[in-house]
Amino acid sequence: MPTAELQALDAAHHMHPFTTQSELAERGARVITRADGVWIHDSEGNQIIDGMAGLWCVNIGYGQERLAEVAARQMKELPYYNTFFMTTHVPAIALSQKLAEIAPGDLNHVFYAGSGSEANDTNIRMVRTYWAEKGKPTKKIIISRKNAYHGSTMGGASLGGMGGMHAQGGLPIPDIHHIDQPDWWAEGGDTDPAEFGLQRARELERAIEQLGEDNVAAFIAEPVQGAGGVIVPPATYWPEIQRICDKYEILLIADEVICGFGRTGNWFGSQTVGWKPDIMTIAKGLSSGYQPIGGSIVSDEIAEVIGGCEFNHGYTYSSHPVAAAVALENLNIMQEQDVVGHVQNDVGPYLKEKWEALADHPMVGEANIVGMMGSIALTPHKESRAKFASDAGTVGYICRERCFANNLVMRHVGDRMIISPPLVMTRGEVDILIERAAKSLDEGMARVKEEG
Ligand code: PLP
Repeated sequence: MPTAELQALDAAHHMHPFTTQSELAERGARVITRADGVWIHDSEGNQIIDGMAGLWCVNIGYGQERLAEVAARQMKELPYYNTFFMTTHVPAIALSQKLAEIAPGDLNHVFYAGSGSEANDTNIRMVRTYWAEKGKPTKKIIISRKNAYHGSTMGGASLGGMGGMHAQGGLPIPDIHHIDQPDWWAEGGDTDPAEFGLQRARELERAIEQLGEDNVAAFIAEPVQGAGGVIVPPATYWPEIQRICDKYEILLIADEVICGFGRTGNWFGSQTVGWKPDIMTIAKGLSSGYQPIGGSIVSDEIAEVIGGCEFNHGYTYSSHPVAAAVALENLNIMQEQDVVGHVQNDVGPYLKEKWEALADHPMVGEANIVGMMGSIALTPHKESRAKFASDAGTVGYICRERCFANNLVMRHVGDRMIISPPLVMTRGEVDILIERAAKSLDEGMARVKEEG
């Protein structure tokens, strides 16, 4: 079918997430037909380098035959069964054992979901049930951060701190509290970055004191905030957060949906930033996006307490055997090919060098990167860290569109541009990505000048 016909049908019947539907009717969505390695291909024959690994998830790259084979085998043998009501199956057992092996510390127990959003919903109920079972039922409030993204379900979007999401549907749900994010570039003013990191972490302490230690159940954050703009806090931030959670007996939930599975150069972002979480939310890179699967990995202590009651929670697709089998094979491949080492010692440092050099571009302020997740802040004036006079995101949008025209997928969050490519990327592919990004920035800048 010709592309235009596909686009018309798509706009007529398919409602897209995070999209203004009328724009689809006007412009038509790009039709992606196949993918291999770090490349996606569209219906017009373009070869596009995927600087976002899909939605931060195809860590192992596209076209891994072994994952297709495992999925087919598992579908023939046991396409579905659940683990409700005293049943189990081998894929769930084997994946849980593998996750207990690679997760740090005593995070040895996994509760599965179909996505990261669902897993964060699980976390809300899990931490509140945990404290109730421990005889502290008032400990219900979960503290999160403004501008965070923790999913699109009612629970996930409530944990998230995005005003636009809260406005649609009357969120957040009760007992969720948001503190400021550690974004020195946008909000640090003249404060020294290290001092700013401490100040923002201590907002957690102030919130706990105001809300009452006996009312706060948990703090949730990504080690490095992803969809909020790849905000890398000053290094002082992370240890202070851990100190405060320990001091007040607040559970630390590390949302590893993006940071997990090698993205930051370790298996988990918590390891990169030195956190010891009580719960980790996982999804995306768990199966490299080949199957929808997420979950919560919890500590021995939480599993023991929750294990003392019937936890009345679960999804039809919790522990789905095909998803579990594919996720396990994905992790096996990552271990065999030392994908985490590749990020830590090879392609990660190479990308960092090239990415940080983009800061020399006249329209780029800071360039941040941790492992294989990076952002650049666009600005009309580097020294003052000024914002563009246009609505926030207009320049970012222009640059994102230039990237797309140059066959590179990059995302924009406001006037920040973001990358999160497949972890198996080669140095040669990094060169292509950077070359296309720089060209797109030049074109974006020319357009911004034209439009004044
Ligand atoms: N948490 C974080 C940090 C995410 O980035 C996302 C998705 O982007 C989610 C949770 C939600 O995951 P899912 O889209 O699988 O529901």
